[in-house]
Amino acid sequence: MKKTLTLLFTLVVGFTQAQNADSVTIRKIYNEALANGKSYEWLRYLTKQIGPRLSGSAGAQKAVDWTKQIMEQQGFDRVFLQDVMVPHWVRGAKEVAYIQNGKQKTNVPIAALGGSVATGPKGVEAGVIEVKSFSELRAMSPDKVKGKIVFYNRPMDPTKINTFEAYGGAVDQRANGATEAAKLGAVGAIVRSMTNVHDDYPHVGGMRYATGVALIPTAAISTNGADLLSKSLQENPNLTFYFKQNCESLPDAKSYNVVGEIKGSEKPDEIIVVGGHLDSWDLAEGAHDDGAGCVQSIEVLRILKTLGIKPKRTIRAVMFMNEENGLRGGIQYADLAKKNNEKTIAAVESDNGGFTPRGFGIVGTPEQRAKVMPWKPLLAPYGLLEIGPGGGGADIGPLAQLGTVLFGFKPDSQRYFDYHHTMVDRFETVSQRELELGAASMAALVYLLDQYGL
Ligand SMILES: [Zn+2]
Repeated sequence: MKKTLTLLFTLVVGFTQAQNADSVTIRKIYNEALANGKSYEWLRYLTKQIGPRLSGSAGAQKAVDWTKQIMEQQGFDRVFLQDVMVPHWVRGAKEVAYIQNGKQKTNVPIAALGGSVATGPKGVEAGVIEVKSFSELRAMSPDKVKGKIVFYNRPMDPTKINTFEAYGGAVDQRANGATEAAKLGAVGAIVRSMTNVHDDYPHVGGMRYATGVALIPTAAISTNGADLLSKSLQENPNLTFYFKQNCESLPDAKSYNVVGEIKGSEKPDEIIVVGGHLDSWDLAEGAHDDGAGCVQSIEVLRILKTLGIKPKRTIRAVMFMNEENGLRGGIQYADLAKKNNEKTIAAVESDNGGFTPRGFGIVGTPEQRAKVMPWKPLLAPYGLLEIGPGGGGADIGPLAQLGTVLFGFKPDSQRYFDYHHTMVDRFETVSQRELELGAASMAALVYLLDQYGL
């Protein structure tokens, strides 16, 4: 009995000492990020000097070269590129759109959705059918829809507290709207922008066509434009809508994931990935989406190195290419990990904006999640309170099949869709402090993953 008590005492003391040592290290990580952080200046360069970087563009290539150079300058043990072929879609000349209501012609802001076909040089003009859902559309007789433009106008649900949930509830219109409209003979599809804000910016994003269905042009319309179109239709159901877009899909282009690595001192074959995506939409500087995630990931490695923390396991910062319109980089990373027999124990993704940290979503078994729970008291003082089952991230998603536990960094979601996929997703909308807190949060998690494994 006495022996058991002594052993228990030793275990408890040992655990407490480890927790104390961890809390001291985590404090140092935050100090370094907040007093000497580099992520904000890196983000300034990526957004202001390089700017938009859609897959296949010159900007994307510049971002590859520059992030490689930055990681080399940090003196990481290894920096390398992974080849990947990516879709190369280009917008062409700026779109034109207007509502023709009797004699009144009102221009409205639209932007072609990524992957859409063009309208042809004359544009498309047709009557408009407004719907809120695919089921509403399918219930209509094809005669009513044939030759028309389908206007999808279901807003993001403003009552959802997590805006990503609201986005998830509306984005089917953008992704599949053109195909569903084409099935009934429509000649175009116009989609209300995915945002809760009433603004004049079309919020773009990816869409896909289904095989065997006509390819019709599709564009996002600003929320103010959508409201005006809807109101005008109520007054005059016979009005027409005109739009012209000049986008094009070019042959696939060669691009790269950029990887920086600190080699593990005890278990170099066990890898922990931390990453974001390097590409952005062509209209955006890609500050929150996802320049923030990229510079935070590089910062994680810089902080560990600067503090002299020698990780037991290998830590990799990965700048994934082509998350926005293909996910080819994320797929390629997992394919190569499989081919090379790599053991990636955990992957952390930051692709929800550079806002105030709230926690991490975990994709793993209940046993794996249970291993993370004792870390909660270490992270709570920094506002990381939402740690539990949740989404990992698109780019690290394919690693799940290889047994990797996924962690999605969760910042506050309230303002993300104010900027998402628009020209206002720019450097000025990112708070230095929030960005740095995010980098520190990711570094703290990576530190704990390295210390204790999964
Ligand atoms: Zn993103």
